[in-house]
Amino acid sequence: NQGVGSWAARRARMAPDRVALIHEGRQHTYGEVAARANALAHRLAGLGVRRGDRVAHLGPNQPGFLDALFATGLLGAVFVPLNTRLAAPELDYIIGDCGARVLLWTPGCEATVARLRADARAVPLGEAGGTDGGTTGGTTGGTAGGAAGGAAGGAAGGPVDVDVTDAETCMIMYTSGTTGRPKGAMLTHANIAWNCVNLLIDVDLASDEVTLVSAPMFHVAALNQTVLPTFLKGGTCVLTGGFDPEATLDLIAAYRVTCLFGVPAMFAAIARSPRFGTADLGSVRSLLCGGAPVPEPLIAAYQRRGLTFLQGYGMTECSPGALFLRAPESVRKAGSAGTPVFFGDVRVTTPDGGDAGPGETGEILVRGPTVMAGYWGAPAETRAVLGDDGWLRTGDLAVTDTDGFVYVRDRVKDMIISGGENVYPAEVEAALLAHPAVAECAVVGVPDARWGEVGRAFVVPAAAVEAAELLAFLDGRIARYKIPKSVVFAETLPRTASGKVVKARLRAPVPDRRN
Ligand code: AMP
Ligand code: MG
Repeated sequence: NQGVGSWAARRARMAPDRVALIHEGRQHTYGEVAARANALAHRLAGLGVRRGDRVAHLGPNQPGFLDALFATGLLGAVFVPLNTRLAAPELDYIIGDCGARVLLWTPGCEATVARLRADARAVPLGEAGGTDGGTTGGTTGGTAGGAAGGAAGGAAGGPVDVDVTDAETCMIMYTSGTTGRPKGAMLTHANIAWNCVNLLIDVDLASDEVTLVSAPMFHVAALNQTVLPTFLKGGTCVLTGGFDPEATLDLIAAYRVTCLFGVPAMFAAIARSPRFGTADLGSVRSLLCGGAPVPEPLIAAYQRRGLTFLQGYGMTECSPGALFLRAPESVRKAGSAGTPVFFGDVRVTTPDGGDAGPGETGEILVRGPTVMAGYWGAPAETRAVLGDDGWLRTGDLAVTDTDGFVYVRDRVKDMIISGGENVYPAEVEAALLAHPAVAECAVVGVPDARWGEVGRAFVVPAAAVEAAELLAFLDGRIARYKIPKSVVFAETLPRTASGKVVKARLRAPVPDRRN
């Protein structure tokens, strides 16, 4: 098995007693993680999971998440991490679209799982993965007991050994799109391995690294830019099921955290803590930040604490790293997303396909071994972004300076980034239009000090309706982070001659009383 699924066992072979994970005060060695992953692989095989089958996972950061990832990989099956913030209908769509055979879920997700209709076998995982499943109820269909010797190559309990090649899909990560439904980016084992190589070339993670991961691992960045590279080095990841700025400061001091990964909104929340100026940050060597532009005042605030951001630009479809701003340039080129990763090429192109010159705005294109295999079951959508030339069209706009540093400026795609989560207005607009009092609507992003951007809905009413009612209507239909923070009622929406809403005009500030 050349795949990611084998990584726990490979690490355990080198250093079984090193601490791989710390979660809620409990330490988990590489040996333990590998053993649990192997046991869970047997259990999944007993449920009929075979090479290529999809195994979905619903849960926050905790050791069981990684058990599930490695166990799925050991079988050559495909891991589909689900965003715990999605509403039940959104999860049902994804589970149905990928045709998951099994849905693994962790404690805390009972209420969501109870609302799901998709027909995957729901299997509860213990806090620390499969084997100590005695701590979980068997309320959703049971777990088929001890998985009588199903896993290829292994007797019950023996090492699972399926001959997975690195060109096979390791995981499908769903990302929303400008048009309608989310699409599943197929990331191969090779995509993920090369992304880890790129990260380790740029960031000097050490074998004694202690990485704090509070950003959710169901997003590609936390998993592939932080957890898996730390794993490859044999370091320790401190996992938290959610993010809290005060707890972050406590954990940094308690575990002598050396590397911190997050999105700008998280680093901003930490900087707002009254303790930020005096907290013990002496152990921290690297701040890894990506997913959205890092505002310059934030860079300055951390600079005052002697800490410099390593910034990256990427997207799910490239596993995700594409550009990186390295330590030596992080101050001089503050505001830039950097230059291409080692194994990766980036072009900034004008609409006619030529290379944009310095200072000229163009679209970012990415090529290399981390670019996804395609969207699951969606050849037309895949062709639309990958074309025939292997260059991934990102839908992001940038300018390059004369030294080749790329500055991400805007987006061609209609997307809002709110607290690190992407929101596609088309999804929100479709949900709003389902309300009988909404005749027309348009959602745009407006700047927000806390979240970076938040959504604002412009609604042309068909009948009298309150903003609060519309927002309540969205709750449960779409994830909370997608729900606009304000509603502006209007008689008409500004449109072009062809009928397209002119969103740029809606982004202008509106007087507060109308919010
Ligand atoms: P995701 O697929 O969730 O990783 O989101 C990818 C998108 O996030 C990109 O296409 C960009 O629009 C945005 N993004 C990621 N990193 C950065 C960055 N460093 N600066 C600006 N935008 C970013
Ligand atoms: Mg993102």
